[in-house]
Amino acid sequence: MIEEINNLHLQANLIKHTVKTMAIIITEDCINCGACEPECPNTAIYEASYEWKFSEGTNLTGSIVLPNGSKADADVEQEPISDEFYFIAPDKCTECVGFHDEPQCSAVCPVDCCIPDNSNMESENNLIKKQRFMHS
Ligand code: SF4
Ligand code: SF4
Repeated sequence: MIEEINNLHLQANLIKHTVKTMAIIITEDCINCGACEPECPNTAIYEASYEWKFSEGTNLTGSIVLPNGSKADADVEQEPISDEFYFIAPDKCTECVGFHDEPQCSAVCPVDCCIPDNSNMESENNLIKKQRFMHS
């Protein structure tokens, strides 16, 4: 009986950590109200045309290798992703994993334009790794 219960726990953990989740993207419906920006625990949200850095709001500094294998300099300004509305740097978004139970940008957005990014699928395990990478 105990062995069966342990197996059920193992299966539940396996499902939990292999389920696919996604980074969040801001759509063109954004009204530039700015409500989401201060809510992001990873400082992944930026105003239109803003040059962003990996080091902002994280413990990253200097040369880094991201969990997905890409290389960058955490202190160097990166190109804005949108010149028209607020945007999310996908390499910094963890869907709020490690901080909150749900994406905070989606929770506060008055026009529901923070949505899952179908082209940016990540497992929960990867999101956890990304969160630890940025903040440890
Ligand atoms: S989902 Fe969370 S981590 Fe990602 S951009 Fe929104 S607030 Fe930031
Ligand atoms: S809360 Fe929504 S509408 Fe406001 S800036 Fe963020 S994404 Fe745009």
